[in-house]
Amino acid sequence: MVQTSSQRESIKNRLREIGTILWSPDAIDLERSARQSLKREERNLLLEYAENLEQVEASKCPICGETVRITMDLGGLHGPWWWKRSPVDFPADMACEHYLFYQGAINFGDRIPTEVTETVIAGPGAPFIIERVLGLPDVRAVVSQLQTELQDRIFLTTYFSPTALAPMQLHQFWLREKLPIPNEDGDVEFTEAFFDPWEFNLAPWFESKKLFWIQPDDATQTLSSSTPNFFSDVSATLMRQVLGAGAIELREAPFGQKNTMYERP
Ligand SMILES: [Zn+2]
Repeated sequence: MVQTSSQRESIKNRLREIGTILWSPDAIDLERSARQSLKREERNLLLEYAENLEQVEASKCPICGETVRITMDLGGLHGPWWWKRSPVDFPADMACEHYLFYQGAINFGDRIPTEVTETVIAGPGAPFIIERVLGLPDVRAVVSQLQTELQDRIFLTTYFSPTALAPMQLHQFWLREKLPIPNEDGDVEFTEAFFDPWEFNLAPWFESKKLFWIQPDDATQTLSSSTPNFFSDVSATLMRQVLGAGAIELREAPFGQKNTMYERP
């Protein structure tokens, strides 16, 4: 059962209340049983929120034509789906075997996303591609637009390949800092953070038919590579938007630096 916006809102509000109690300086005075009960409630709310998130028709595979349905929360950036610190597992996206991952950008226009309660790494304000991946033979990608209920424009770039790629050839998903890398048995062995530069000059990629776009609100999801495209008018930051405490902080975009964040085996 998909939640209504108001059901999702009430879960988010209660999660915020619980977070405020548990993280306040007075939390030390809470009885152990009260603390445990709040944590249990928080866990249950997170599970309910995640299980009932919408699977949005977000892209389309250029190889087989199947629609990609991505588990998302378009209700505003205060939902746990947006958080850098992923507190719960979300249902898998529904897509064909060619689907690899998606990256994204978000354009707030004049709006300041004051609803944000936890850190969100939102990417830049305009669509981009990751050349290391799209440059691989036969890999293709699609730029599509979604809109949050607060009218922010999300630009997703979804990657596809007709053949399986090694996990280290991929990239972490939008909003996430790292990609779990499985071993041959499928168990997560370590996590990797990729810092590939963002390429915003998309014209050559459209021309070479490696990259396509879908007109927003096109129910048929027709893939196009002609110009102009629907985001030709976008003027936005190309820096990394990090959101938190009701403000947008602009940080340096990735430039191919090495991953120094995590120990590797
Ligand atoms: Zn496919």
